[in-house]
Amino acid sequence: MPSSKGYAALSAQSPLAPFAFTRRDPGPTEIAVEILYCGVCHSDLHMIRNEWGNAIYPMVPGHEIVGQVVAMGNSSKKFKLGEIAAIGVIVDSCRHCVPCNKGEEHFCDEGATLTYAVPDRVDGSITMGGYSTNYVVDEHFAHSIPAHLDLAAVAPLLCAGITTYSPLRHWKAGPGKKVGIVGLGGLGHMALKFAHSFGAHVVQFTTNLRKREDALKLGADEVVLSTDRDVMKAHTKSFDLILDTVSAPHALDDYLTLLKQDATLTLVGLPDTPPSFGVFNLITRRTSIAGSMIGGMIETQEMLDYCGQHNIVSDVEVIPIQKVNEAYERLLKQDVKYRFVIDMSSLD
Ligand code: NAP
Ligand code: ZN
Ligand code: ZN
Repeated sequence: MPSSKGYAALSAQSPLAPFAFTRRDPGPTEIAVEILYCGVCHSDLHMIRNEWGNAIYPMVPGHEIVGQVVAMGNSSKKFKLGEIAAIGVIVDSCRHCVPCNKGEEHFCDEGATLTYAVPDRVDGSITMGGYSTNYVVDEHFAHSIPAHLDLAAVAPLLCAGITTYSPLRHWKAGPGKKVGIVGLGGLGHMALKFAHSFGAHVVQFTTNLRKREDALKLGADEVVLSTDRDVMKAHTKSFDLILDTVSAPHALDDYLTLLKQDATLTLVGLPDTPPSFGVFNLITRRTSIAGSMIGGMIETQEMLDYCGQHNIVSDVEVIPIQKVNEAYERLLKQDVKYRFVIDMSSLD
């Protein structure tokens, strides 16, 4: 049994603190990775504070994992010892339902197994995430990384990257399309990079105009202060797609009014309270509100390969794990450009 050190929350009120536990030896098709880097997603903060009401403690968060393969089962073929592997938000699924057979394991009919804080399909233990020294996972749920990319900056691609890449592809962000991104944080800055790279005309909506110069550098064609009524009004009925990455409750009608006929507002941000909106903003132009969650294994690898070809990574601030509680406070104040990533060598 590999022993693992990590940082865990013991309750919704307690800060993360050092925590020791064990992981199983890798099964026949599993690999064990020594974790090098793990990104800090806002979902980790929602989860440790039980904002979605489904927390299980002790909780070791972390689902943007990059590590080195250090052991494998005897039927495992995908990686060689010493290679780099990446693990994201899901680590298992039923593997026989319709979505799983299509490579859309995140939509598994029986429920995908998340990287942390859910019962493990193999041994029934509660999964422990990537703020830790190692991880054991079936090779099907681990990804290869293009060799030339910076590993710390790759880690956030495993959640922030795929969560924005997938809906931008699904709703066909590209040349001739006007695409809005709401919120310039971890997800938002990846959405900007992808939408720009796909060739769309990209408008960044933000509550903080101090992010304007960054947004332009990251790929925005225009930056809009979402509290400025006049500027918002100038964009009425003009968007093909708006991707909303905001982590806190906010008014959806402000964005529904900006959609063209038949256009879509896609929600990926997960505030802890349900949104409300005016149905008239839907019926009068047949607009849609939709949602999207991370991506399946095939699309996640496609996204990583795309990032390799186009030199896309996350803008990161690397921190030692001892600073993770401080990082959460800074994340809430939007004091990070634009993703914290934990250097796991700080755990030794
Ligand atoms: P983040 O880095 O904290 O970014 C959130 C952004 O939302 C902020 O930078 C800010 O942008 C905006 N914002 C924050 N509070 C706001 C408020 N009160 N009103 C309006 N805007 C506000 O968080 P993240 O890691 O990108 O995650 C964003 C959300 O996506 C979280 O809820 C997370 O749980 C969720 N998520 C969903 C999935 C999925 O599969 N669907 C995957 C990962 C994460 P501005 O300063 O520019 O306004
Ligand atoms: Zn995440
Ligand atoms: Zn399934």
